[in-house]
Amino acid sequence: MVEKVIVIGAGMAGLWTAMALAGSDREITVLDRDPPPPAGGPDAAFEDWQRRGVGHLRHSHAFLARLRTLVRDRHPELLAALHEAGVRELGFEGSLTAQHRKAYVPAPIDGDLAILTSRRTTLELVMRRYVETLLSVTMRPQTFVSDLKIVAGSPPRVTGVVLEDGTELSADLVVDAQGRTSQAPEWLGRMGAAFPETSEPCGVIYFTRHYRLLPGQEEPPRGMGSTTGDLGFLKFGVFPGDNGCFSITLCVPEVEEEMRKAIVDPEVFDAVCRQLPGLVPWIDRARAQPTSRVFGMGQLESRWRELAPNGAPAVLGFFPVGDCVVRTNPLYGRGCSFAAVSAYVLRDALIAGRDPAERLLIYRAGLERELRPYYDVMRKADQSAIRRARAALLPPRPATLRTKVLKSFLEDGVAIAIRDDVQLLREFLRGFHMLEHPQAWLKRPRNLAKIVRVWARGKAANAELYPVLGDTDRHRMLNAVGVSPTADEERVRAAA
Ligand SMILES: Cc1cc2nc3c(=O)[nH]c(=O)nc-3n(C[C@H](O)[C@H](O)[C@H](O)COP(=O)(O)OP(=O)(O)OC[C@H]3O[C@@H](n4cnc5c(N)ncnc54)[C@H](O)[C@@H]3O)c2cc1C
Repeated sequence: MVEKVIVIGAGMAGLWTAMALAGSDREITVLDRDPPPPAGGPDAAFEDWQRRGVGHLRHSHAFLARLRTLVRDRHPELLAALHEAGVRELGFEGSLTAQHRKAYVPAPIDGDLAILTSRRTTLELVMRRYVETLLSVTMRPQTFVSDLKIVAGSPPRVTGVVLEDGTELSADLVVDAQGRTSQAPEWLGRMGAAFPETSEPCGVIYFTRHYRLLPGQEEPPRGMGSTTGDLGFLKFGVFPGDNGCFSITLCVPEVEEEMRKAIVDPEVFDAVCRQLPGLVPWIDRARAQPTSRVFGMGQLESRWRELAPNGAPAVLGFFPVGDCVVRTNPLYGRGCSFAAVSAYVLRDALIAGRDPAERLLIYRAGLERELRPYYDVMRKADQSAIRRARAALLPPRPATLRTKVLKSFLEDGVAIAIRDDVQLLREFLRGFHMLEHPQAWLKRPRNLAKIVRVWARGKAANAELYPVLGDTDRHRMLNAVGVSPTADEERVRAAA
């Protein structure tokens, strides 16, 4: 029997769902509120594609090795099309430090540690065109879903969707890929079905500006300064893109209100970049010119929705994927990989059985197994970053010995050992890129021994291994770009 599947949303999770589920035993219809991509290539998509449904479409994106290996292994034609459109693969070799290079011998695993990088519009355009060629998939753009068809029961069962004009479409399965603003919880709530959620703020605001290399110019050589970094009061990163494009993201803690207000001004944005030695050559006007305003995005939160409270499915025939079910801090670049993985976990659950309750429980268990470990690590890192950003605005307090040792172990031990030892970098990246448990590498005694050895050598002996971040003093940087460093200090201190 051919199963009719409706997917609501043709963003990352919707496209991945179509790619994961396509086959002769399913008929898949993907509905999206937005228009299709404009005619033309990546530049037309970046400039003209109206995507009111994806507010973050023009923010920096990088696509982790987990996503790239899924494309490589399951959709090789898509990988070829991505290359053709200018999407780049940044390989493991590109993340080596000068110290690594002294002893680097390529290993087979290195081939799995590449990322895909491009403007998000480029990746989405090429994925979309690829999905359109899949035999069992129909795309319906400009189709706004305004409700679900639900049959009451315990639990209720979803049997289709209702469009804005009142048209009803029936399906055996409905996949919710509406992204972070999905209305499904409200629609289901009316029938007494709830996905209880836990959520917490990521504590940062994202600011992105796009640039393009001038004709004949190339990206600056790596190693002249860090192109990514975390100063506590500011995180930054360069995202190499496709077709001579790149973007820079500055990530400001929510508590830094003055900086947040100022940085949306392109002059201030570029002035901040000029304070960071690793970014200076990128935005040099002799090398590149800006191609966009500064895009800002706040209200970022981590959120996990429970599909089977107390082990009982909340609803049948309905599967949220991507941001609808788990949302994470964009800083870690895992959202699109989460979307891809959730689509494949769903595919496995649908293959495993036909009983709707069993399918939901298998899907839920797969999400817990495949995504929960990364989610928990990210949440903890966010909590610690929020504390650090706030502490930067308060008078310095003497740290306990435990805090000092832990901080030194992480900053002068773990972070530096990764920059020293190629094998350690590989194992760290396997966790970062979701190819194994995020903390597996830290639990291996040989890795801990390496870290302790590097830590014990001391800062002076390791001096050359530290990343070049420039002057990291908050007051000096903010003063240099015309932002008051004291206004937020006074506010936070008064409230403390
Ligand atoms: C600032 C920012 C930067 C990020 N950077 C990265 C990164 O570097 N790497 C990474 O992997 N992830 C990144 N992410 C996360 C990633 O973008 C998301 O996790 C991903 O887009 C989730 O995909 P999705 O399909 O669930 O939602 P979306 O991509 O948001 O797609 C939702 C789709 O549903 C459609 N839709 C919504 N409602 C309806 C409706 N009622 N009817 C019909 N259609 C509807 C929308 O039009 C849209 O097409 C970033 C996120 C943000 C906010």
